[in-house]
Amino acid sequence: MHETTDSTPSPTRRGRLIFISGPSGAGKSTICRRLAELLPAEFAVSATTRPGKPQDAWGKRYLFVTEDNFKQRMEAGEFLEYALVFGNWYGTLRQPVEESLEQGRIVLLEIDVQGGIQVHKLFPAALGVFILPPSPEQLEKRLRDRGRDDEQTMLRRVTEAQQEVRVAQECGSYSLMVINQTLEKAVEEIANHIQRYTIHNETLPLPFGERR
Ligand code: 5GP
Repeated sequence: MHETTDSTPSPTRRGRLIFISGPSGAGKSTICRRLAELLPAEFAVSATTRPGKPQDAWGKRYLFVTEDNFKQRMEAGEFLEYALVFGNWYGTLRQPVEESLEQGRIVLLEIDVQGGIQVHKLFPAALGVFILPPSPEQLEKRLRDRGRDDEQTMLRRVTEAQQEVRVAQECGSYSLMVINQTLEKAVEEIANHIQRYTIHNETLPLPFGERR
């Protein structure tokens, strides 16, 4: 199968898989929505045991399932990757991703670092992008402004974010780390990077953690 692609869906060329991770509050969801429009790319569908939220109506696509249903799908091998994140299960459904790749599309996975590591092992040609908040203070401010969490949860998220950044830098699965100073700049940087590998077919850089 030919590995090149551009951003136009093509049934004759295999698509590309992009996985994007980053701590909650780093601006990942907004960046992913912009990228999906710009490239264009498709969001993969994830099953999750967490309840739906009003803001789920657009952007990343979720299938809300019970824990029993999730476990059955897990045993049936329906997931490309899965992980327990903040006490809820999340898993990328394999079949829609494979179909979209067969059709030559760019598929965007908005997943956590545990999922990113699994995807990188399965698809070494997939591109991993990690989004960083400008600073721990900024992250705390964004989480506070978002107003979704109580004080204790918010402080836990800040600590977990620092841990997640360390894992992303060392795991060797992410080849691009982008600081989300301003939304437009971050989107542009990621889109340029993706297009270098999808349209211009450049070789992937060594992931962080494997660079000397
Ligand atoms: P949220 O519930 O806020 O949409 O997502 C919580 C976290 O779970 C985020 O870090 C998000 O990227 C991650 N996540 C969402 N879907 C998946 C998935 O299918 N697999 C994995 N591993 N993580 C996911």
